[in-house]
Amino acid sequence: MEEVSRDSTKAEQDQHPEPHWQIDAPREELHVLGPCVLKDEDEGDHRGDATDDRTRPDTALVALATRVLVRHVMPPYRLGDRIPPTPQPDENGTVAGTLGVTRPLGNMRYTTLLFDLDHTLIDGDASEGAAFDYTLRRSGADDPADYLAPYVEINTALWAAVEAGEITPNDVRSERFARLIAATDLESDPETMGDDFVFGMGANGELYPGTVETLDSLAQMATLALVTNGIGEVQRARLARLDLDKYFDAIVISGEVGVAKPGPEIYDLTFEELGHPDKATTLMIGDSLSSDMAGGTNYGIATCWYAARSDKATPAGIDHRITALDELLPIIAGE
Ligand SMILES: [Mg+2]
Repeated sequence: MEEVSRDSTKAEQDQHPEPHWQIDAPREELHVLGPCVLKDEDEGDHRGDATDDRTRPDTALVALATRVLVRHVMPPYRLGDRIPPTPQPDENGTVAGTLGVTRPLGNMRYTTLLFDLDHTLIDGDASEGAAFDYTLRRSGADDPADYLAPYVEINTALWAAVEAGEITPNDVRSERFARLIAATDLESDPETMGDDFVFGMGANGELYPGTVETLDSLAQMATLALVTNGIGEVQRARLARLDLDKYFDAIVISGEVGVAKPGPEIYDLTFEELGHPDKATTLMIGDSLSSDMAGGTNYGIATCWYAARSDKATPAGIDHRITALDELLPIIAGE
């Protein structure tokens, strides 16, 4: 293993009582070594804009080691110490001092994670329900629930047309209300309803419990991107309100770019923005079989179905299935 060099001045050390390390080693030589992990909470490093020539995968690997440290409360080495030689497994495959992790860190299975937003990170039902109620009441409906069934049918059909590439998300904005007005006794203006709904969608809906904690961990282990079929105004308002922007190196919203999942173009744009990561270590995570799973599979990347609200069997061709977001942690580490 290579040398560890100092990455902070005396003054900085005083501000950061934890040792602050910089590792100079080829990626394939990095190993989990228990006590010689890095306590590196400098956001600059984690986000890959350190001044040295480390690459994102390397900093992610270091972060994985940090996770092990935090979990097991191992004492870090002091400034100036050297990382000890890589321990070798004994006959049982156990490596002394490695906290049970016997695999080189370089073997992390996924280093780029593409996330869907609605019904994967954010409670889309709550968001949509509140927005619908708000919109209908402003249009004079005494009981918005009366209009829910036809709305759901219309909305579902329109989003299927988006996935088929026949219309864009922005077309859905007022068209769903034009069709709802035509199909019911509602008397209102579809443009105004579209505006109200967009406002309501952006202003309502929370993250599923545990999402922030999981994103905090994942962002230290991998590059994250958001690939969402939605209206830009809605998604941007939610991302800002929920403070999600900071996790993603690319945020690609179909309503802004004019192409949608499951087509390949939106993935082309995402990969371009991320600097063309390796497809072999990229994972698409989402709740939708027709957009997220089909999109990932068509593009030649691995897929993880977030099936928290589905009891369907996992269709062939899907690589992973989870029912809680934190199940991603061992999956991307390849544990
Ligand atoms: Mg979704």
